[in-house]
Amino acid sequence: MSGNSDFQILTAIILALFALVFGILYFSVKSQKFSGWVALAYVAALVAYILASLRTPSTPMSLIFLSTAMFWIFSFAIAKAIYARCNTSFPNFVTGILLAAGTASVMWLSYVEPDISTRTLLVNTVAALLLSLSLWPLWKTGDKLIDGALFGVIATVAITFVVRVVVVNFLLGQTLTEQSYAQSTYVWIFQLTNGIAALALAMVLMFAAGHDMVLHFHGQSNRDPLTGLLNRRGLQGLFKVGRVDDKGKTYVRSIILFDIDHFKQINDRYGHATGDTVLQRIAKTASGLCQEYGEVARTGGEEFAILTRWIPLETAQFLAQHICDSFRFIAHPGLDPNHKVTASFGLAVLTDGDSLDDAMDRADKALYHAKQNGRNQVALAKAA
Ligand code: GH3
Ligand code: MG
Ligand code: MG
Repeated sequence: MSGNSDFQILTAIILALFALVFGILYFSVKSQKFSGWVALAYVAALVAYILASLRTPSTPMSLIFLSTAMFWIFSFAIAKAIYARCNTSFPNFVTGILLAAGTASVMWLSYVEPDISTRTLLVNTVAALLLSLSLWPLWKTGDKLIDGALFGVIATVAITFVVRVVVVNFLLGQTLTEQSYAQSTYVWIFQLTNGIAALALAMVLMFAAGHDMVLHFHGQSNRDPLTGLLNRRGLQGLFKVGRVDDKGKTYVRSIILFDIDHFKQINDRYGHATGDTVLQRIAKTASGLCQEYGEVARTGGEEFAILTRWIPLETAQFLAQHICDSFRFIAHPGLDPNHKVTASFGLAVLTDGDSLDDAMDRADKALYHAKQNGRNQVALAKAA
């Protein structure tokens, strides 16, 4: 190692720490694929960095190629991380072409017409292009502060990869050889810019991972794990942010409560696990039918609530009746074919100044009447 070995060791430790931190994030919340890809990127960056630091004129070509591969894996993994974060499908075909063309060109510039300057430019350009793949989903989402920061840092790093080679080639002329490379100004600039780029990227990626984690846990605390529907807290949140811009004279917002009929018997007869799958089917059917009319939440064991958008009362009634009618047609493979699962419904219209609890109380009373009247029906609550 040269005189700047302290800097190199420090950079290597920082890269290792980032790999570790993102690895821990990934293993603690597996659904955060983003962190997993970033951890891989930093492992590759660490290996590439160590190989580049140990490079001497006698370093075998196989290690030089390994270092190139690691550099590309770093860029590729960062791009994969961004696509995972943006929930966009990754452009595998373009990436494949890029890697194949890059590999063939590196081989050509190493063995057929050896030219280390052009090869260095090529290696950096491929890395820059791989990294730039992530700019597209960020541009498309591009309304959040974090996406903007990621876009800016990634674009800067990608440009730096190419510009630094051009600058050094221009400063040094075409004088780079396999022998002079290890001691060249390029290697020094390469190491320095890599260190800074890795650090800047890690900062903004860490910020993004933290932000995603908060959203993830926030989302989890608002959802029911069995059905994936909102829970009572989620419904409360939705109620608070309810839009009123499409409010009109003939439009109302309603709460439709429903409770599965004789659900206890299902558990007793077929077991709790079968009961759970019945709940999941009921939840899926109800949310499928609600679509743009409202949001379904699971507010208790076998009790659900629908908070409708601003729709005419007749539409809300029709929706409740339609869902009620649909339940008996759901196939429940674990149950006796003659066992029809039904539910009773209570519908209450929200009035100005109503709290969610007020409206739910009225809907609950109506539901009680529906149960009393023989179940499998919709009852409308009295006006507030
Ligand atoms: P009704 O028609 O009057 O509503 O009768 P019911 O049997 O549906 O009502 P009851 O309140 O007596 O029973 C509800 C049952 O729901 C009791 C409870 O064991 C069951 N339950 C609550 N949560 C869950 C759950 O998450 N999974 C399963 N499988 N069962 C649950
Ligand atoms: Mg109940
Ligand atoms: Mg019930």
